[in-house]
Amino acid sequence: MEAALRLSIFVALFAAMAVWESQRPRLTLAQPRSRRWPVNLAITVLDMVLVRITVGAAAVATAQAAAVHGWGLFHTVALPGWLAFVASWALLDFAIYLQHCLFHAVPVLWRLHMVHHADLGFDVTTGLRFHPVEIFLSLAIKVALVAALGPPVGAVILFEVLLNAGSLFNHGNVAIPEGVDRWLRRFVVTPDMHRVHHSVVVAETNSNFGFSVSWWDRLCGTYRGQPAAGHEQMQIGIATERDPTRLGFLGCLLLPATGDPGRYSFRR
Ligand SMILES: [Zn+2]
Ligand SMILES: [Zn+2]
Repeated sequence: MEAALRLSIFVALFAAMAVWESQRPRLTLAQPRSRRWPVNLAITVLDMVLVRITVGAAAVATAQAAAVHGWGLFHTVALPGWLAFVASWALLDFAIYLQHCLFHAVPVLWRLHMVHHADLGFDVTTGLRFHPVEIFLSLAIKVALVAALGPPVGAVILFEVLLNAGSLFNHGNVAIPEGVDRWLRRFVVTPDMHRVHHSVVVAETNSNFGFSVSWWDRLCGTYRGQPAAGHEQMQIGIATERDPTRLGFLGCLLLPATGDPGRYSFRR
């Protein structure tokens, strides 16, 4: 039931973003959809199939097990239901922010995460393009955290849906008026905010790690308003892997082993 609900929300949001991108694109991308989408969507389908046939909705299942066995902080400390719900969502979302920083900080993790950043364009499909090993590592971290926190099951579902929706939205190549973007950014990560994170400039790549709310970057000092070169002029991707012939489906899967990680990871 939960899986079907999540899949329907995902498909509807993906379709809405794809239409929005074709009607009101923010930038003309260097490479057409026909070059990048087959690769990004093939990686997405592979990730979905691998997760489905192995662990499935592991985070939600862990929250259910925690409720049955009384595991975790929120089953030990008695809080009003609404507070446990909000606190669980906030802690899970902040943990994903920290995990994203970690994937930039640790060289071997950056090699995996590099697949997301090596996309030479930036649109809704970029938000789905993650190496399967990164997907499994994030899942493992999420499961451990859910077991430790024992959050309400509903909070875990909401967190997953918002994270997914956030990633589709903030990778969108969609035009949003400047004033609206400024207002939205007080709360959520907008495409203009997350695009800075996809810049080839190392200092810009290592900023704006949030995927849903913009607060964690502001609180932790990793927020950067705009790219130095401007959105129209900035280069997207990583400086060391720009040959499209190396960035096909197989090339991307092998990139952690064969790719040049450059000087991006901040603990090199
Ligand atoms: Zn990143
Ligand atoms: Zn991204």
